Amino acid sequence: MKKVIVIGGGYGGLRAVEHLSGIDGLHITLIDKHPYHYLQTEAYSYIAGRVNLHDIIIDLKNWCFGFKSGVEFIHDEVTFVDFEKKRVHLSDTKLHYDYIILAIGAETNFFSFIEGLRENSFGVKKLQRAFNFRTEFEKLLYNKVESPLDKEELNLAIGGAGLSGVEIAAEMADVIKKHTKSIGESTREIKIHLIDASSTILPGMSDYIIQNTHERLEDLSINIMTDSFIEKVDSSSIYFKDGRKLDFFFMIFTGGIKVPSFKLSREVERNRINQFIVDEYMHIPDEANVFAVGDCVEIRDAKGNILPPTAQTAERSAEYVAQSIKQTLEYTKVKPFNASIDGVFVALGGKYAVGEMFKVIKVKGYSAYLLKKLITYTYYVGLKLRVNTGFKIRTKKDDT
Ligand SMILES: Cc1cc2nc3c(=O)[nH]c(=O)nc-3n(C[C@H](O)[C@H](O)[C@H](O)COP(=O)(O)OP(=O)(O)OC[C@H]3O[C@@H](n4cnc5c(N)ncnc54)[C@H](O)[C@@H]3O)c2cc1C
Repeated sequence: MKKVIVIGGGYGGLRAVEHLSGIDGLHITLIDKHPYHYLQTEAYSYIAGRVNLHDIIIDLKNWCFGFKSGVEFIHDEVTFVDFEKKRVHLSDTKLHYDYIILAIGAETNFFSFIEGLRENSFGVKKLQRAFNFRTEFEKLLYNKVESPLDKEELNLAIGGAGLSGVEIAAEMADVIKKHTKSIGESTREIKIHLIDASSTILPGMSDYIIQNTHERLEDLSINIMTDSFIEKVDSSSIYFKDGRKLDFFFMIFTGGIKVPSFKLSREVERNRINQFIVDEYMHIPDEANVFAVGDCVEIRDAKGNILPPTAQTAERSAEYVAQSIKQTLEYTKVKPFNASIDGVFVALGGKYAVGEMFKVIKVKGYSAYLLKKLITYTYYVGLKLRVNTGFKIRTKKDDT
């Protein structure tokens, strides 16, 4: 029996476990420092109050039990990986592996060159931060509802106009716009500002996506501030490099990611945001049994372009690695990973989205929203079915 350890129960880790579970002769251990899988891609709906906690997390123990055998979950933080001894160190134990998959994801990069950013803004890459931000958003609405005569304009600032920043801005703006009639006109004084240092929103995406997203954000009365370089943040204001200042009620930052520090028994190559540099087989170079997938790796397409970190790429890379472990065990030839992005869908508040598939199919509005929801729903239902199965077969003894 070969032992495979998957570190990280995010999009990449779960997909790896699913695909590995169908391979004979493997025992799979999934390790995560949190007891749940967090559906980050749904964070925008959660923050704006459209869905609840139970809609965006999946219990990893029940999920692993859902495989019935051959898969176990350990709730612990991996502190060290020893390549020479093939061991993973947890808080008070060490585990041997034959293969290991690093799927540790990334966290918000609160750039250290922006003074006060970390202390004064929220990220959404962690459930706890998304929870805090949702609470702040509720507080903001509550303040306006309780004091309708207070005409003070309250600014909500979002630093970073990439996919997550845009989706969060649009969802909040849509909630405010849709519910003004029931919660009162005063909520109109809440103003959302979407800030980016680049000259465009969604840098790197196609003209079709950028243009239609721009129009939708304007319809939602979001103030788009591109070419705006944040130099400093304090508890109530953002200071821009060109001398402008924006006061805010609260701020979130989605302007970049970095991979958390992670101790390995030898130095390995990483890029400027700490992502692992892997070979074309997704190995850490010179470590044939060590793979890395998802946001924690720099992944390039056939033309050498770095792909943006997405759940889709995390899942694709994980599927590839599971398949390559299978082929290695069967002594068949393994082909290099061919990374590409088939499509992108941007949720733009309520029942509106913009999307593009295979560069030729372009959709916007309700049809794009339905397609995006279908993708999410299919993913969620798959997880839920396995969790339900796992919950039924898990006994009290299993928890000890
Ligand atoms: C608001 C928002 C919207 C997004 N929308 C989209 C979208 O529409 N489409 C899309 O494709 N992508 C989207 N993304 C990006 C997507 O969520 C990420 O690319 C994806 O989560 C990456 O998956 P991953 O498995 O690499 O990492 P993660 O999903 O981040 O999982 C990493 C896991 O590793 C665990 N871990 C880390 N270190 C350790 C350790 N030392 N020991 C044990 N466990 C550890 C963490 O607890 C975590 O569970 C969005 C992201 C955000 C924040």
